[in-house]
Amino acid sequence: MNALSGQVGDALPLRIGVCGASGRMGQALLKAIDKQSQWMLAAAWVSPDDPVLQTATGINGVYYSRIGDNQGTDDFRLDVVVDFSSPQALEALLAELQKHRVPLVIGTTGLSAEGKKALQTAAETIPVLWAPNFSLTVWLLQDFLNRLARIHAGRWQARIRETHRAGKKDAPSGTALALAEALVTGHTQDNMKPDPATLEQIAPLAFRLGPVALESFRRGQVAGVHEVEWRGPGERLQICHTADSPELFAHGALQAAAWLAQQRPGSYSLDNYLQTISIDDA
Ligand code: NAD
Repeated sequence: MNALSGQVGDALPLRIGVCGASGRMGQALLKAIDKQSQWMLAAAWVSPDDPVLQTATGINGVYYSRIGDNQGTDDFRLDVVVDFSSPQALEALLAELQKHRVPLVIGTTGLSAEGKKALQTAAETIPVLWAPNFSLTVWLLQDFLNRLARIHAGRWQARIRETHRAGKKDAPSGTALALAEALVTGHTQDNMKPDPATLEQIAPLAFRLGPVALESFRRGQVAGVHEVEWRGPGERLQICHTADSPELFAHGALQAAAWLAQQRPGSYSLDNYLQTISIDDA
């Protein structure tokens, strides 16, 4: 629990700040927080040029504000911040959270190598949990693909196709990359994560990571579809995961946030959180 929190040992709701609060994910987070009495919206940060800036969220008297401003609230304490915004927000966000020792759950994708390094550095001061996908099902799929690749020891190839809404900025998606990494890590059998620099771009929305081909499609309002086609000697496997709504990720991120708010500074993954809970808790 961070130094500014009043959470330990009492029944006060968890005071949550949301960064990226006006976006698709941000709105799903605000709705989910509003529904649960154990959670309380305490800040709603958006881009400095977001048209909603300084308007009311309609929840708990909180206004949309810039990172670090908690307009409309008379109590500036935050127990945890959940960020689904943009890589551009990262520098200001980490500076603010390290200053006040507030844990961070971050789902923003498209982070650069420097951005990921900045998360590692911040984790020396605050608890940080980054995940490219907060679906428990996708987490299980990563685990399965990793084992599949290990069992078939290099005698396979795979294709991952991901489809997201037209406005999505990064490609391939963070989830597609995580699925590819799970396969390639199994492929090399040495527990080394493949260097993201080895992601080879072969066409505008087509990539290759070792034996895995990745294709990205952008259309309409698709929340997120990932199709994995795996081919081994004499057999073929096709798996498709569809995210029907951003609520799925909001729920996973808020569960992880409640857990992270009680951890010591450090770098955490969804694995660390999920290993501490039973399936019934999820
Ligand atoms: P969106 O474009 O709908 O919303 C972006 C939000 O970020 C807005 O509120 C905007 O004001 C804010 N923002 C942008 N720049 C900012 C800055 N410099 N400072 C502060 N706030 C800033 O985006 P979205 O669909 O909600 O997705 C947001 C991010 O979450 C993306 O990176 C997306 O890939 C990722 N995402 C991750 C998961 C997951 O499970 N990890 C799931 C869905 C989306």
